[in-house]
Amino acid sequence: MLKIDQLSHSFRNGLEWTEVLHQISFEVHKGDMVALLGSSGSGKSTLLNLMAGLMKPTEGSIYIAGQDIVTMNENQLAEFRRSHIGFIFQAYELIPNLTVRENIELPLVFQGLSPRKRKEKAMVLLEQVGLPDKSEMFTSQLSGGQQQRVSIARSLITEPSVIFADEPTGNLDTKTEEEIIAILKELNKSMQTTFIIVTHEREVAEHTRRVLTLRDGHLEEEPVRTPVLGGTT
Ligand code: ADP
Ligand code: MG
Repeated sequence: MLKIDQLSHSFRNGLEWTEVLHQISFEVHKGDMVALLGSSGSGKSTLLNLMAGLMKPTEGSIYIAGQDIVTMNENQLAEFRRSHIGFIFQAYELIPNLTVRENIELPLVFQGLSPRKRKEKAMVLLEQVGLPDKSEMFTSQLSGGQQQRVSIARSLITEPSVIFADEPTGNLDTKTEEEIIAILKELNKSMQTTFIIVTHEREVAEHTRRVLTLRDGHLEEEPVRTPVLGGTT
C-alpha cells in the first residue's frame, strides 16, 4: 500500500542545507492505522507532506499503491493525488462560503460526477461522521469538532488508498479529541481505509496498533501491540 524507502529531506537555510529527515524506511499495509508520534520539530509534518506529494524529497522513494510518486511530473502527481490520497488538516481547511455538503462534494466536482451522485455519496459520509442534519449549514456555523468531522468526510469521498492526517485533534479539547479518534477508528474498521495520523500526543497513539516515532528526523518503531486495533498486519 505505502512503502517509504531511504527517504531523506533537507531544507535550505541561506547558504546551508539542514537535513531534517534521515534515511527513513517503512511500510504500511492496506487497512492499517498508524500513529506518527514525535515532539515539535522532529519532522512529522515534513514526512507527511512528502508522503502526500505536497513536496519532493531530497532523496528516496515513496510508493503508494505500487507507484513511486517521487518520479511523477506535476500533472501526473496532481491526478494521482486526486484519486489516491486524502488529507486531513489540523485547522480543517474548509471553504466557508460553501455548505457542509458542498465542501464534502468538492473533490468529486473535479471528477465530473453528476450532482445527484455527488449528493448521494456526501450524505452517506455525513451519516458516518454523525452529522446528517448539518448538510445545508455553512461550516462557520459548526463547532471545531464538527468541522473536523466534515473535513474527515471530505477526505474520504474519493475513496483514497491512504489518508494522511496532520494533528487532526490539535485544536480540539480532550473530549472532542476522543470523539474524533473514535470516528477515525470506526472508519478504519468499516471501510478498511488506511490512516497515517501525525500527533505529538501519546493519548492519540494509544489507539493505533502501530506507532512510529520520529526523533530528530530518525524513525523508530515500537513493537506492534495487541489487542488488534486498526488493521491486520
Ligand atoms: P513537526 O511537524 O514534527 O513539528 P516539521 O516537519 O514541521 O516538524 O519540521 C521539522 C524541521 O524542519 C524543523 O526544524 C523545522 O524548523 C524545519 N522546517 C520545516 N519546514 C521548513 C521549511 N519550509 N523551511 C526550512 N525549514 C523547515
Ligand atoms: Mg507539524
